[in-house]
Amino acid sequence: MGVKFPTKLVIEVGFEPSKSIGMENIIILGTGCAGLTAAIYAARANLNPLVLEGNQPGGQLTTTSEVENFPGFPEGIDGFMLTDNMRQQAARFGARYEHDQIEHVSLDGPVKRIHSATKTYEARSVIIATGASPRLIGIPGEKEYYGGNGVTTCATCDGAFYRGMDVVVVGGGDSACEEAIFLTRFASKVYIIHRRDEFRASEIMSRRVLEHPKIVPVLNSVPVEIFGGDDGKVRAISAKNVQSGATSEIPCKGVFVAIGHIPNTKPFTGALTLDESGYIVSPQSSGVHTNVEGVFVAGDCSDHVYRQAITAAGMGCRAAIEAERWLSEH
Ligand code: NAP
Repeated sequence: MGVKFPTKLVIEVGFEPSKSIGMENIIILGTGCAGLTAAIYAARANLNPLVLEGNQPGGQLTTTSEVENFPGFPEGIDGFMLTDNMRQQAARFGARYEHDQIEHVSLDGPVKRIHSATKTYEARSVIIATGASPRLIGIPGEKEYYGGNGVTTCATCDGAFYRGMDVVVVGGGDSACEEAIFLTRFASKVYIIHRRDEFRASEIMSRRVLEHPKIVPVLNSVPVEIFGGDDGKVRAISAKNVQSGATSEIPCKGVFVAIGHIPNTKPFTGALTLDESGYIVSPQSSGVHTNVEGVFVAGDCSDHVYRQAITAAGMGCRAAIEAERWLSEH
């Protein structure tokens, strides 16, 4: 039997400019796989979690048409449906949802405060699962064909849809090289467009890319525009050689953008330890504790290595279990 927590400990009357609401046992920030799994576990532990969802309810998975690698779905599952199922599962056990955009936080001390433009939320513990956003190139056609029409940011998720087709990867880091190598399992040819003459990726990854018979490096080149065909899907990308100034068109069915991610951690600057790229640092081997007592982290806002739905869900589970332990001890 888990420890039972009162659902409301303090009721305050709020005043402008920010309305303060009753203190929660736990607030979960984010509704991707990490946040929703944390919500399922926290709700089943009788913590009555409040889940705050921001601009992208469901997280990055909602931008993927089909998820084929989440265990338990042999036929695959629509990304939106997967997170919506998780959302309903957590609600069934008492999770509550509110749509709000958090701006800053004060996490020191026993009462954690989460501030949006109009409200202040108070909680005894917090799980941060705000995710990361793939960095996009910002060229014409990119947004138009993003998510199901040929432009994607996840080879692991979407690579298998490009069996026997030519695809393009943009980027020169470990992610781009890893994606290019992964895509050779499906695609007939993989072009990798990188803006310099050498990859940022580790030596071993760069070598694998350069030596792979299916990969065609397009170096010293920047992507210019993504073009669609009559079917409304990608048909080509143009790239400009930065040395010669010449622009060429590469026919392809898929464009995999792999130029890094930006963790959604701006509201935590100064409140938590972040690394130089902005990822929340966990100083303990659990990987879900932060440097502040009672504040836990899960998913892509802290993990820049695995970044999978299942690993984010696993972290969400761990974070909720650790939060429950922490609450029962305090
Ligand atoms: P990254 O190392 O920051 O590399 C981003 C790449 O994209 C760079 O080559 C960069 O070019 C290029 N780029 C950035 N903005 C661009 C733009 N606007 N237009 C064109 N190109 C642009 O990011 P990452 O590859 O996602 O890796 C992130 C971290 O995760 C790294 O520490 C990496 O080592 C790690 N990681 C590790 C593994 C592994 O160990 N298996 C796998 C994946 C990632 P420049 O090189 O010119 O700056």
